[in-house]
Amino acid sequence: MKIPLSRPDITGKEQKAVMEVLKTPHLALGPKITEFENNFIRYVGTKYAVAVSSGTAGLHLLIRAMGIGEGDEVITTPFSFIATANCILFERAKPVFVDIEPNTLNIDLDKIKVKIKTRSSKIKAILAVDVFGLPCDWSALEKISRMHNLRLIEDSAEALGAELEIPNSKPALPAGRSQKPSIRKAGSFGDAGIFGFYPNKQITTGEGGVILTDNKNIAGLCRSMANQGREIVNGNWLEHTMLGYNYRLSDINCALGIAQLERIEEILEKRRKVARTYNALLKGVPGIKVPYQRECFHRSWFVYVIQLAKEYKKKDRDRILIEMKKRGIGCSNYFPVIHLQRFYRDEFGYKEGDFPIAEGVSNRTISLPFYNNLSPEDMEYVVANLKTLL
Ligand SMILES: *Cc1c(COP(=O)(O)O)cnc(C)c1O
Repeated sequence: MKIPLSRPDITGKEQKAVMEVLKTPHLALGPKITEFENNFIRYVGTKYAVAVSSGTAGLHLLIRAMGIGEGDEVITTPFSFIATANCILFERAKPVFVDIEPNTLNIDLDKIKVKIKTRSSKIKAILAVDVFGLPCDWSALEKISRMHNLRLIEDSAEALGAELEIPNSKPALPAGRSQKPSIRKAGSFGDAGIFGFYPNKQITTGEGGVILTDNKNIAGLCRSMANQGREIVNGNWLEHTMLGYNYRLSDINCALGIAQLERIEEILEKRRKVARTYNALLKGVPGIKVPYQRECFHRSWFVYVIQLAKEYKKKDRDRILIEMKKRGIGCSNYFPVIHLQRFYRDEFGYKEGDFPIAEGVSNRTISLPFYNNLSPEDMEYVVANLKTLL
């Protein structure tokens, strides 16, 4: 591929950090894990962070830590990466899909309210996703979940560095003095959130993830379950107080993550710049919609996904993807909807038309090449080819 869909941004600093760990005997369960977790606590602003082997592992542990199991239902979106819903299935609970908003592509809050009304008794939690790095309306989601006594999980895997401006609810200051909104970062909402660090994410550890929460109990359970169910404080190596997994992250991965997170502002700015260049190049191009912008909802650019207009059908989009790839341009159809994946159809009987907004969007998206060091010339090449194919 001449221009890949994504590409990690690893500098000498990251290479050095990994090499330093390799010179020590502490390749696992060493000091880099705590350092990595503490840096996340500082960056996101939660009380606790638990490093895990992947974002998926983080989601799984949260479902378990919240005691969600057989017979329980969790409201979530059909328009996400499959891990979002799979983590519910791991515990034999049922994902209850709610359609998305056509602009933000995030779960539709009004439809959540309707869903809760119709099947309140079994629903235990809401698992919402900051799709393509655009935060959900977390103030509203927190209100809904409080009102119905539901747990709330933030799948912020795609949103490291995204921010929400929350209007200050305190009485207004005297005229002439502006009331500063409070800023909260993605990953800090609900009962707990997660990030994933696969190489296509804003920062990478190769494979890896982290759980973020203010809830001591959730953090403790996750930490123990990620480490074979061991008692974390004063526990013996071969004493296991609960069913656990090996979902640990190694010190090698953590060292890479620490060095990447140190560069986060630079990384986010590079990604904003690429997005701005695409916006400019695509301005006025007929037949497409560029990524949605929303005041007070600051996207962290994970991918750059355009949507074709209604006159294009799925087969047109698929043809464009094939043709772009033939021209050496990495493109993808983020996301095929989850409910129409084979084993979801088989298990739950979902069919086309069940979630029409998500399906309509999903049939028309094209994820363009997007990474920190994507050059303006390469973007021009991408856009020129896209225009021809349209
Ligand atoms: C990447 C991603 C995950 C899973 O992260 P992994 O580290 O690959 O397990 C979960 N949810 C969403 C929305 C993602 O994009």
